Amino acid sequence: MPSAIPAVAHGARLTIDLDAIVANWRRLGAQAPRAECSAVVKADAYGCGLTAVAPALARAGCRTFFVAHLEEGLAARECLPDADIYILNGLAPGAGKSFAAHRLMPVLGSQEELAEWAGISDGALPAALHVDTGMNRLGLHMSEALALAGDPLLARAGIRLLVSHLVSAEKPDEPINARQIEAFAAVRQAHPGIPASLANSSGVFLGAPAHHELLRPGYALFGGNPTPYRAENPMRPVVRLESPILQIRDVEAGDTAGYNGRWQAPSPRRLATLSLGYADGYPRSGSQTGHALVGGVLCPILGLISMDLIILDVTDAPGARRGVMATLIGDGLDVDTVGEAAGTIGYEILTGLGSRYVRSYTGG
Ligand SMILES: *Cc1c(COP(=O)(O)O)cnc(C)c1O
Repeated sequence: MPSAIPAVAHGARLTIDLDAIVANWRRLGAQAPRAECSAVVKADAYGCGLTAVAPALARAGCRTFFVAHLEEGLAARECLPDADIYILNGLAPGAGKSFAAHRLMPVLGSQEELAEWAGISDGALPAALHVDTGMNRLGLHMSEALALAGDPLLARAGIRLLVSHLVSAEKPDEPINARQIEAFAAVRQAHPGIPASLANSSGVFLGAPAHHELLRPGYALFGGNPTPYRAENPMRPVVRLESPILQIRDVEAGDTAGYNGRWQAPSPRRLATLSLGYADGYPRSGSQTGHALVGGVLCPILGLISMDLIILDVTDAPGARRGVMATLIGDGLDVDTVGEAAGTIGYEILTGLGSRYVRSYTGG
């Protein structure tokens, strides 16, 4: 990171709107007024910066946070002295002391983890219990979870939250949603008095049976669309990615541009070269399929995306000039669209946001 942001940008600029993240957290909470809304801030808060995002959410009233790894939990504890912090990937063998020392709570995913933690906690250190209802990834089998009903082992492990994760929440018509909701309700009923958490961002929009006591959204906090594919996005955009135009050049029909001459001009075109590339986290798979906005005009990315440079066709954008900023994310070009154009999902666009960008935060 540069020690001072130059007045004239040479690289790309990433702007993160902390007020929008807080507004999205409130919006998700309003969807389930009787539940608490936590924040999933794994992967450096989905690329948006844990140390800026998590305290802003805590100041707004968020009390519970989830990360994936112990190392992320340690970083979260540094900036969240009082919050409840859960570690989704559970208890690594022998890591119990670090969890205890920093008041981090594992989401225990197997009988071995449960037994190991019970030995460390002896009822004094809280944790969550992960029950697998269809993902076959982490968590106790349904049968194991049901068999633990009334078992004093749960109290010895300080279990104070039951967790499960939805397979296809962003597709509300998939029958697996109802099956998981029903299975989780059965687990819940077998363990009366222990609060429960099922809904990720999209799960929040599956209605009351998915809500339980604690919502667990990540992606939607950062502006991703939690509602079905191409439905209107109820969340506020959070991320803005812009790059200055370094050069404008005119090419003749038949000229090629970029590595391997992958693009060939069908007619005389005007090109603009932008100051970012795949080394910044912009996916190379967006070559020839992605877009950027110049003066509000949608301009196609052409040729292969380079490490530090992207070429745009700005023939139809009269405002394109050296020094003008092009928008790669923002102004309606949202992370879901950028992900789709690159053959991936908005989650990967966010978590891939590079460290070379000049970052700034607004609000908070
Ligand atoms: C990442 C994750 C979440 C958050 O999911 P989003 O789709 O980003 O809202 C919730 N729960 C678990 C177990 C996760 O791994």
